[in-house]
Amino acid sequence: FEGDSMNDAVMPTYGRLDVAFTHGEGSWLVDDQGNRYLDGLSGLGVVALGHANPAVAKAISDQAGQLLHTSNLYRIPAQEKLASELAALSGMDNMFFCNSGAEANECAIKICRIYGNNKGIADPTIIVADNSFHGRTMATLTATGNPKVHAGFTPLVTGFIHVPFNDVGAVRAAVEANDNVVGVMVEPIQGEGGIHIPDDDYLPALRQLCDDSELLLVVDEVQSGNARTGRYFAYQHSDVLPDVVPTAKGLANGVPIGVCLARGIAADQLKPGNHGSTFGGNPLSCAAAIAVVNEIENHNLEARAAELGDRMLTSFRDRLGGRNNVKDIRGKGLMLAVELTSPCSEIVQKALDQGLLLNVTADSVIRLLPPLIITDEEAEQICDVVCTLVEEQP
Ligand code: PLP
Repeated sequence: FEGDSMNDAVMPTYGRLDVAFTHGEGSWLVDDQGNRYLDGLSGLGVVALGHANPAVAKAISDQAGQLLHTSNLYRIPAQEKLASELAALSGMDNMFFCNSGAEANECAIKICRIYGNNKGIADPTIIVADNSFHGRTMATLTATGNPKVHAGFTPLVTGFIHVPFNDVGAVRAAVEANDNVVGVMVEPIQGEGGIHIPDDDYLPALRQLCDDSELLLVVDEVQSGNARTGRYFAYQHSDVLPDVVPTAKGLANGVPIGVCLARGIAADQLKPGNHGSTFGGNPLSCAAAIAVVNEIENHNLEARAAELGDRMLTSFRDRLGGRNNVKDIRGKGLMLAVELTSPCSEIVQKALDQGLLLNVTADSVIRLLPPLIITDEEAEQICDVVCTLVEEQP
C-alpha cells in the first residue's frame, strides 16, 4: 500500500498494526522507513529458522527453477521424502499434506469421523477442550473452545463436545455419557488460549482412556510442533504416541503447508476419493519443509529451544516474579507467556515502538514465539524490553 492509511480493498478481519516490513534477516525485520525490529513472534510461530534463512531460500529458489506444481495425480518425490522424514521424527506411519493448520485439523476430524462411520457410528462425536484453538474453517472453529470464535457463524457443525482442559475426569465423564464418542482432540500446550501447559500426566491419562475406549487421540501440534517447545513435537516430552497429529506453522518457515500425520488404525482410514487438496504437498512447500527439517537437525535446534526457553523463563521470573501486576510466568522451550492480572493489549504497540514484535493473546497474556535461531543477546534483549514494559504497566 501507499501512504499512511490501511487499504480498504482488504477485508478488515485483522486489527493490524500500521507497520509494513520490507525485508528481514535472522531474528530481525526492517520496515519501509528503515526501522529495525527484533522479532519475538516469528510471524505467529512460523518463521522458526529466521527471516531470509539461506538454506530455506536456496531450497525454494532451486525448486522454483525446476518445478512448482504437478498435482497429486502424480508422484511427488519431495513429498515422499518429507513424509519419510516426518514419519521417522514423529513415530507416525503416514500423512496427508495440505496448506494450513486448519486444513490439517480438518483432515484429523475427517479421520475421526470415518473411523466412527466404519464402526457403524453414524453421528460420531469428538471431545475437545474449552479455551482451545483449532482454526477458522467451520469444523475447526466449532472445535475451538472459544465463544468469540463461534459468534456470528451459526449453525455450527455438529459432533463436538467441549470439556475443561487438563481435566481427564471431564473427558471420561463425557465418554461415559455418550456412546458415539470416536476421538479426543487437544493441543499439548494451548497456544492462542494463552500458553496453558497441562499437568505431566494429562496426555498419558488421555492415551490410556482412548486405548480403553477405542478412541482416537488427536494432538494438535500446529503451534507447538516443529521443535518449538524443545522436542520435535510437544507430545514427545511424554511417552505418549497420539493416533493423529496435525501440524503446520513452523514446518516450512513461511511457505504455506500443513500436514496431518497418522498411526495405526488412524493411518488406515482415508482411501482414494475420501480426501484431497490441489496444492497440498506440492514440490515447492515440500522442498522448503525438507530444508527446515535438515536445519533443525543440523543446528540441534530442539535442544537450543529447550535451553534458551529455560533461560528466558528464569530471566522473567527473576525480574518479574512477585510483582502485583504479574499473574503467572510460564512456557516450554520457546513458547513463552507472561500473564498479567489485567488486559494489556496496548503493550503490543508499546513494544513495537521499542522495536520489539510480540503478541497479546487471551486479553492479558504476553506471548512470545521467537525464532529458534535467536542468539543469547537477542533473547536477553527481548526479556529486557518485556520486563521494562511490564514494570511500567499500571
Ligand atoms: N491449531 C492451532 C493449535 C493453532 O495455534 C492454529 C493457529 O494459530 C491453528 C490450528 C490454525 O492454523 P492456521 O491458521 O494455519 O489455519
